[in-house]
Amino acid sequence: MPFGDILGQEHAIELICHAVNKDRVPHSWLFTGQANIGKFKTAVALTQKLNCRKKSDDACGNCDYCLQIKEDNFPDFLVLRPEGKFIKIDQVRKSLNWLNLHPDQANKRVLILDKAEKLGREAANAFLKTIEEPAPNTIIILISLSKKQLPETIVSRCQQIRFRPLSSKITKDILRKNPDLTEEMVELLSSYGMGSVKEDMANSFEIMQTVQNTTIKWLTSFKPDTLEDLMGTAELWGKSKNEEWRFLLDFLETWFRDLAWLNFGLSENKLLNQDNTLNIYGVRELKQCRKYFSQHQIFEIFREVQESRSAIDLNANKSLAIESLCLHIYRTAT
Ligand SMILES: [Zn+2]
Repeated sequence: MPFGDILGQEHAIELICHAVNKDRVPHSWLFTGQANIGKFKTAVALTQKLNCRKKSDDACGNCDYCLQIKEDNFPDFLVLRPEGKFIKIDQVRKSLNWLNLHPDQANKRVLILDKAEKLGREAANAFLKTIEEPAPNTIIILISLSKKQLPETIVSRCQQIRFRPLSSKITKDILRKNPDLTEEMVELLSSYGMGSVKEDMANSFEIMQTVQNTTIKWLTSFKPDTLEDLMGTAELWGKSKNEEWRFLLDFLETWFRDLAWLNFGLSENKLLNQDNTLNIYGVRELKQCRKYFSQHQIFEIFREVQESRSAIDLNANKSLAIESLCLHIYRTAT
């Protein structure tokens, strides 16, 4: 996918193209920003631009090199991703050995390190050496949610490009390209995405709706008899293979973001939770829920949601993490 096909990241792409056109491509880039906003696609487009057979402002997307890169079948292009929870030292060693070979046929041999925050300490050290003394005609692109999750020694040796959250218009435009999604699904997925494209959620649409509707019922009526139901469901969601807990965390982020938004008196048509035909809940329920929380509490809960997500990422017991988050919200409200 050439740069021209990537929506909403014009600023990042302009910086990258400027470096390429001035022949000042660094050996190591670091692309940061939230998930699903086009960082990986941009890294692939950069690889295509550097190697495309037709020399022009953007890769052609159609020559044999562009196509091989797109299909991850180009001998001078490698993507390194975590195997399991982490990127392992053996994976790193293998790919660095590969990187140090002369390019087979490319102008630049490119290694993309996706989810670079999953580098263990030993693996990060191995990487550091290569970044300090790069082989000629090689480029490493690290992709990560935030530079804070990487060792400073690595960050300081990379040229960082920050990717911005996408506007809701852009996320909808991207989702609308999928013919399987109805307009209502596009609306709901876009609100869940909070600036990113969560197309993979389309397969779990009904689960998402159940989680959302159940949760809104709790959030609009905090009564003693709802607590038992809430805790029981939270436990089930934490255990379920359908990963309802993930949708719950995503949804709570949108909800408490909207509450803060309302408290600031900002425009209601920018709320993520709008009324639509699929999702009968929306602005009215937000207003009903608002009375339970002060602005300070809203921010605190927002942080708690993110902490629960990180804890689960680090192997915490999902049911316990979700139960304690729900209990925290309930206690704050009552
Ligand atoms: Zn091409």
